[in-house]
Amino acid sequence: MKKMKKWLALGLAAAMSMMVLTACGSEEATEEEKPVVEEAAEKTAEPEETAVYPEDVQAIVDRGVLKVGVKNAVQGFGFQDPLTNEYSGMEISLAKMIADALGVDVEYTAVTAATRTELLDSGDIDCVLATFTITDERKESWDFSTPYFTDHVTVLVEDVSGIASLADLTDKTVGVSSGSTSAKSLVEALIEGGYITGEGYDTETFDPATWTEGVKFQQYDDYPTISTALSAGEVDAFCVDKSILAIYHTDGRSYIEEEFAPQEYGVATTKDSGLSALVEELVQGWLEDGTIDGLIAENGLN
Ligand code: GLU
Repeated sequence: MKKMKKWLALGLAAAMSMMVLTACGSEEATEEEKPVVEEAAEKTAEPEETAVYPEDVQAIVDRGVLKVGVKNAVQGFGFQDPLTNEYSGMEISLAKMIADALGVDVEYTAVTAATRTELLDSGDIDCVLATFTITDERKESWDFSTPYFTDHVTVLVEDVSGIASLADLTDKTVGVSSGSTSAKSLVEALIEGGYITGEGYDTETFDPATWTEGVKFQQYDDYPTISTALSAGEVDAFCVDKSILAIYHTDGRSYIEEEFAPQEYGVATTKDSGLSALVEELVQGWLEDGTIDGLIAENGLN
């Protein structure tokens, strides 16, 4: 409870300073207006009633709900209990804290690597907290907060396959999720390790669907389907971030030796939106004051 109050206060302070940023950045803002707005930012009492938010943030406040895309099967990040339907995990907590900072409720929508950006672009959700890796390419289309967690990619195999390392993956078929960084990360790791030549590899144009040099990919819409495909022998290996693989790491399955391709997770929002700046300020505050470290520890992620 005490912690929540701290988050709320931080959030509100951030929201108020956003107001300053927006006022300073808008064409209407004059030099005379600034001190008044700055003074308002210092008085954080009843901010929901007095804050002047950027239009997109105000729309969320008026709606009374922050709609967030989350994972529902990544333990410690976004997990929905199948019996109670309750969500838990650090991304669930962060989403709730952002909503609290705005004084609104939070609504979770389960997303996949394949659906999260469509839902953000269509306005069905306001932001994504779903093990979403920050990449230069993605930054061209969406805003990302400073990372709140760094994971790595690895590969899960059936023990009977005898596959134990990157070297064993040559000429194998690997299951990956559509819209994920996994295939590219694996090909780069194989090239770097000298296991494949990388002939024809181009970081800009790489497409898992057409890549056949040394390793092949089968793309799926969701992770449970890849896990089933691995059991059925439809694919030889299942490649994605280790945090995501954890739930599929059952008896008779192992990770290969290597972990590679650091994956920095950030909160994704619509490019140049008011929410982007507000979320960034909140995340930075929670990184600085140890709140995010606390969530990492609470969720057993360190
Ligand atoms: N984190 C990786 C990505 O953003 C893996 C996919 C996923 O998050 O489901 O591409």
